[in-house]
Amino acid sequence: MPKLTKREFSKILNLLRSKYGEWLPRHVDARDPFKTLVGAMLSHRTRDEVTDKAYTSLFSRFRTPEDVLNAKQSEIARLIKPVGFYRQKAKRIKDVARILLERYGGKVPDSRDELVKLPGVGDKTADIVLSLSMGLPEIAVDTHVEKISKRLGIVSPKASYGEIKRALEEITDVQDRRDVNRLLVQFGKDICTSPKPKCSLCPITDHCDYFSRISAKSVRSKLKPY
Ligand code: SF4
Repeated sequence: MPKLTKREFSKILNLLRSKYGEWLPRHVDARDPFKTLVGAMLSHRTRDEVTDKAYTSLFSRFRTPEDVLNAKQSEIARLIKPVGFYRQKAKRIKDVARILLERYGGKVPDSRDELVKLPGVGDKTADIVLSLSMGLPEIAVDTHVEKISKRLGIVSPKASYGEIKRALEEITDVQDRRDVNRLLVQFGKDICTSPKPKCSLCPITDHCDYFSRISAKSVRSKLKPY
């Protein structure tokens, strides 16, 4: 199946936009990069429902980097406890709050290079903060974005974070890039699920490499031998 064009991918994004609107995960705050940064750190290797719960507990008690720095690490750990590696994450969140106050005047830097210097912050977390809370044209590649990019045939099954991000950038208009993550995440939770996608409900089967392969396989299996 030929690779998706910019025009086709733009149509897919518009279709998902009409279905999911301005949806954002609960552990993302479009106006507060600090909360989004902490939410993304909490979400590492943790299910969204658990992350949402920990995020809500933490930010119902603390709001700013100052609050977090003045809190006891044990209290942060207790508040976020449902998440995986909660003790390690509590330490990192406190370290990040301290670094933001010492080096960046208490603000989250709007540069990828500076963001990835923070403890526990990798490419995905940096891209989430830059796109979803700062409105910058970055594409965060999480498990849903990766799975869907591979199923649609935008990248090969072994593509890395950087390869997926670059391939998506090539077929996405700059003004749409910040929406790619949130739209594909919702689509990945709703229809293009793991491990088994709900292809019978999918509005974009015509563009899907995975679907064309499983359809061809099922047609072949129905052919009677001579
Ligand atoms: Fe996902 Fe199936 Fe739709 Fe392809 S056809 S995008 S695998 S749900």
